[in-house]
Amino acid sequence: MTLSAAIEELNILEKNMHAYRHAMGVLSLDSATCAPAASAPARSETMGVLSEARYRLLVNPRTEEMLRTLREQAAALDVPVRRRVEVLWESYQDTTRIPVREYVDYSRLCAQADAVWHRAKEENDFAAFAPYLEKLVAYNRRFAGYKTGFATPYDALLDDYEKGATTAMLDPYFASLRARLTPLIRAVSEKPAPRTDFLHLRYPLPEQRLFSQRLMALLGLDPARCVIGETEHPFTDGFNRWDVRITTHYQEYDVSASMYSVIHEGGHALYELGMGEDLQFTCLADGASMGIHESQSRFYENLIGRSLPFCKALLPVMRECFPEQMRDVDVPTLYRAVNVSRPSLIRTEADELTYPLHIMIRYELEKRLIAGDMKVAELPEAWNAMYREYLGVEVPDDRQGVLQDTHWSGGAFGYFPSYALGSAYGAQMLARMEQEMDVWGAVERGDLQPVTAWLGEKLHRHGKLFTPAQALQSACGAPFDPDCYADYLTKKYSGLYAL
Ligand code: ZN
Repeated sequence: MTLSAAIEELNILEKNMHAYRHAMGVLSLDSATCAPAASAPARSETMGVLSEARYRLLVNPRTEEMLRTLREQAAALDVPVRRRVEVLWESYQDTTRIPVREYVDYSRLCAQADAVWHRAKEENDFAAFAPYLEKLVAYNRRFAGYKTGFATPYDALLDDYEKGATTAMLDPYFASLRARLTPLIRAVSEKPAPRTDFLHLRYPLPEQRLFSQRLMALLGLDPARCVIGETEHPFTDGFNRWDVRITTHYQEYDVSASMYSVIHEGGHALYELGMGEDLQFTCLADGASMGIHESQSRFYENLIGRSLPFCKALLPVMRECFPEQMRDVDVPTLYRAVNVSRPSLIRTEADELTYPLHIMIRYELEKRLIAGDMKVAELPEAWNAMYREYLGVEVPDDRQGVLQDTHWSGGAFGYFPSYALGSAYGAQMLARMEQEMDVWGAVERGDLQPVTAWLGEKLHRHGKLFTPAQALQSACGAPFDPDCYADYLTKKYSGLYAL
């Protein structure tokens, strides 16, 4: 195969892979938003056909030959093409490393485990879920063994979600973060709680839907390329830079729930919308990693969306949409209310300050499980003990404890750290941005365009051209500095609670 023939084949392959991803993405979005209940079995047939066809596109002798040809002549390729080959080769290896039989059995186990977990959570019955979790842990330990070059099996799993992240890097990061956050959380919890009653008045859904449109406009999301839907659990799916979907979930008596979902998912969407036109229809039109994607959503949600200047821009919009509910609310009151911090039981409802501790607990526990240092049967007790030690809260039952997250039932071990890394990456980007431009003047005016343009230039347009470490270096001009995040939280919460 000649070099030019191989490049031509690469272009066709990626265009085809995009088409399958696009079609499957629209189908799953449809299923999560508006498809009728009886449509599930037929759709899963269709999905089966499409995912098999997509698998065969990548895994076949012809594609392997093409990728080998390009890898052998990597020096002759320009940088983006070389990176595309590298990314596809990695995903080819990931797909073929696990024997097909084992992969099929594992997928079936995940589907069963997920159904069992749903029931076990509802009925507060960890014992029912435990045998499935044991099998999932065993599979993941074996899968980790199929990858080489990692210090521990858990490191191999981490790499699936955040390339380059290791326990050697995460252990000291989490240890120092915990050492700095623990006294801060204690000091905050000794202060009187701010007023939040107005967030929990009745906010009718039609008004909330209009408010979402106003928020999307405030974020600068192009309505011709990004629309919003409603789902049980909010998410973002970017098919390409001309079609990005976000979803939210409205709660009649909690206006901030959907408000911050829209801003969070809006952050993911801005990243997808900002990816270079030259990368479209290639595997590089994607986030640099889970953690980098999460850095963008959390950047808009917390660093911008929960800042005082943003509250100044937000309050007039809220007053227009909800004149009655916001009648006696001023900017400082709104700012304090959306930043209320209290140690709690549920990760997804945790505030910005206590959130990282929820992640650390999961990180420690899954590390022990995958290392074989802890049995699944010991997990609930270990979970409860860590919540007591890290957050000072008593876990009343497994439903609000070890059974709360869906990740482990889906076989995702090593995923949680991406969330905490994302927040830290975001804080470091903000520190750099503040050195280079007047971030807060623009935010206060309700103009996020300069902020998004900065991120777009340094991060968004490059998509997956860079590894996570390179992406961070490109945005911040420096390697990962975990202290930025603790500095940011200390400064913010010391001000908020007058510590
Ligand atoms: Zn997210």
